[in-house]
Amino acid sequence: MSPDPRSPGHGRSHRRHEGGFRWEAVELLAYKDDGSAPFRDVTRQVLIERPELACQLRYFEVEAGGHSTLERHEHVHGVMVLRGRGRCLVGEELFELAEHDLVTVPPLTWHQFRAADDAPLGFLCLVNVERDRPQLPSEADLAELRARPEVAAFICD
Ligand code: MN
Repeated sequence: MSPDPRSPGHGRSHRRHEGGFRWEAVELLAYKDDGSAPFRDVTRQVLIERPELACQLRYFEVEAGGHSTLERHEHVHGVMVLRGRGRCLVGEELFELAEHDLVTVPPLTWHQFRAADDAPLGFLCLVNVERDRPQLPSEADLAELRARPEVAAFICD
């Protein structure tokens, strides 16, 4: 199988970091294209994708005060914080995030990333290329999550 010519890095063994968490020949994308899920101030860059790897390495950046979608899915995430500060929800646990911290999101586990109010949160995220679509919480799921006051405070906008 030949590499998809649309894949970032096709035919290139090295792409420079251009500063500001932007990389040569890497497009800056909307976090989600379809407008189907709530989020605020997030960008996405696909850094590495090769068919042989069956996974993608992406860089997401959440602006100060912004957040990713509260979601869950069968596929897992491997995350490393590269820039800034924030917090995340994984299951029923909240974690403070600092540069170079690692986060693993297991299957079917609610998760959300939030930047600090005064700093962005940029992170690498490793996922399978073939993956299920994220599920959004139902009202019943939200009620269950809100049973923990600290989680209720975290997921409210
Ligand atoms: Mn996710």
